Amino acid sequence: MSDQLQVLNPATEEVVATVPAADAAEVDRAVGRAIAAQRSWAAVAPADRARLLRRFADVVDTHVEELAQLEVREAGHVLGNARWEAGNARDLLLYAAGGVERLLGKQIPVPGGWDVTFQEPLGVVGVIAPWNFPMPIAAWGSFPALAAGNAVVLKPAETTPLTALRLAELALEAGLPEHLFQVVPGYGHIAGRALVDHPDVAKIVFTGSTRTGREVMERCARLVKPVTLELGGKSPNIVFADADLSAAVDPFSFLDNSGQDCCARTRILVQEPVYDEVRELLADALAAVVVGDPADEKTQMGPLISRQQLDRVRSFVPEDAPALRGDAPDGPGFWFPPTVLTGERHDSAAAREEIFGPVAVLLPFTDEADAIRLANDTPYGLAGSLWTRDLGRALRVSGAVRIGNLSVNSHSAVRYWTPFGGFKQSGVGRELGPDALAAFTETKNVFISTEGPAQ
Ligand code: NAD
Repeated sequence: MSDQLQVLNPATEEVVATVPAADAAEVDRAVGRAIAAQRSWAAVAPADRARLLRRFADVVDTHVEELAQLEVREAGHVLGNARWEAGNARDLLLYAAGGVERLLGKQIPVPGGWDVTFQEPLGVVGVIAPWNFPMPIAAWGSFPALAAGNAVVLKPAETTPLTALRLAELALEAGLPEHLFQVVPGYGHIAGRALVDHPDVAKIVFTGSTRTGREVMERCARLVKPVTLELGGKSPNIVFADADLSAAVDPFSFLDNSGQDCCARTRILVQEPVYDEVRELLADALAAVVVGDPADEKTQMGPLISRQQLDRVRSFVPEDAPALRGDAPDGPGFWFPPTVLTGERHDSAAAREEIFGPVAVLLPFTDEADAIRLANDTPYGLAGSLWTRDLGRALRVSGAVRIGNLSVNSHSAVRYWTPFGGFKQSGVGRELGPDALAAFTETKNVFISTEGPAQ
């Protein structure tokens, strides 16, 4: 152990906990323990592995409130969201448990024999999570991997290790084998890198910034190690003039989690004839957002995660920038008001870069072709919304945008039933959905000759 991580409550700046930071040697020991645990886990009958994961879900269920309160304290999430997040971890466990007994191979017709495929576990999977949704993202990487017969070593973000550590304790309480699901809190460039570089870690699932994801991919390439990358976004909300504007202009499409959401619809693209109406709807909506203590049930938006993040968000919003603004508390805590910038060009920094705060840009477009051009004119392609009552247009635009998760007449984003991931520099691979377990397996093909041994 080399150092201590200090976990701050972002709403008060008070120290919530200090946690030892793992160094490379500790990561190496954790991987060693995981190798042994994985061997015995893979030998457990599928029905029993499924039963244990369902028991883990039951234990999480009885701790939803505790986990939610922890998420409020370490990440500043509003209570209602934090409860949803703990419930999401529980539900994903149940969904993944349902896959254990259905991890099927194929029987392929071939001449001269029989051919069958097996979906075998990879071994030890390394999961690296960011701070913005510490609990769900840890779960999305880890639980399907466990269900597919792997061991997991999870490195949470420096600022938010507490819910991950608690989930690992609950796994033990539920009866999962020791060392099967380990958490190594630590710094990215030390513990994260050690996990990426470890020759016995068979796959890395990384969620975080595109910049770090690129480095992770480069280092994995040296070992020809597979990666899933869930990276940044600058997602459009495309509002055509015929849309239901009151539904389309939902400020929480970019304010949820104080905008620290990779799927936040931060580019509001509005067809010219309704631009002024949308602007007015947004102004009213921002003024009504309740920003404050995340532990208060009435609060709709909490603080940013850290001073560093606050400084970053501020750097995109000069005081005199033309904008619609809501309110935010003064005093301790990392507060920034809900903001929509109205004087940006679509190629300005605020309109192109991921700000990761409660800030969107409002941009007009002329027609369908212009909307598609603007929506696609970004290195990212994670999420987006599209609002129109014209079914043909909805289908045409859905086909033309380069986006991994698109919602039509909805702002829905991540659902554990459906695949999640990005086009372009928003990522590589998919998490969740019906194929979630398969992403943590190797396909082994076995051909069995029916010819018999040569005489
Ligand atoms: P980050 O890239 O700084 O860190 C993410 C994780 O990587 C942390 O655990 C960090 O400690 C670790 N890390 C840092 N350097 C590393 C290295 N050299 N090697 C290995 N690990 C390293 O990202 P962040 O600021 O914590 O998170 C915000 C970013 O995450 C945003 O860009 C956001 O869009 C993205 N994100 C993407 C998704 C998605 O599913 N696509 C979901 C949530 C967040």
